[in-house]
Amino acid sequence: MAEALYMEDSYLKEFDAVVKAVSKGKYVILDRTAFFPKGGGIEYDTGVITRKSDYKEFKVVFVGKFDGEISHEVDQEGLKEGDEVHCRLDWDRRYLLMRYHTAAHVLSGVFYKEYGLMMTGNQMTLEKGRMDMNMEEMDPEMISEGFKKANELIKKDFPVEIYSKTKEEAEKDPTLFKLAIGFPHKLDKIRIVDIKGFDAQADGGCHVKSLKEIGKIRFTEAINKGKENRRVYFVLE
Ligand SMILES: [Zn+2]
Repeated sequence: MAEALYMEDSYLKEFDAVVKAVSKGKYVILDRTAFFPKGGGIEYDTGVITRKSDYKEFKVVFVGKFDGEISHEVDQEGLKEGDEVHCRLDWDRRYLLMRYHTAAHVLSGVFYKEYGLMMTGNQMTLEKGRMDMNMEEMDPEMISEGFKKANELIKKDFPVEIYSKTKEEAEKDPTLFKLAIGFPHKLDKIRIVDIKGFDAQADGGCHVKSLKEIGKIRFTEAINKGKENRRVYFVLE
């Protein structure tokens, strides 16, 4: 499996790699990658792969995880196994997704700690964030208040740290898994995203390194989505 560079450094924008395999001409596996594959409710990265031998550019149009491998779909055929490449992320896109992802952690932490609510699903796109909460009755006032508290926290600008724990260590603390729907527990090491002084979560995604980078979160809409499920939308300003 390719080394997932984004797990170590969410701010890595460019890197060198070697093509390990290409299937159907356009699906490329690298030995290492900073491209985040779509997953956990977070959109994939895009960018450019440049072949070093002739500077030919291949646009990365989709990144997904298939059979445990990170696959980069490019816009044209031509890359071959063994090609040495330089890769560059579309940073504006990735950075916005990082801000949304960390915002979702702040929100889920606030709603859990203040109101005992669990986030049961989430989806972050470039346009908006969405999360589902197990709130029995729709309560827009409570939701607004939760967003206010989240924004107060962001102003405190806590650092966000990433480290790993052994599986045994991590499983002693079930609150680490409260928003990790389908988190792969079979890993030996569990990656932790820790908003210092506030909330830590098991997580495989990319995050900003301090809360102020999120900016301001604005609650836009909440709708009923089945029994005990309230779907909440927000945008970043
Ligand atoms: Zn997350």
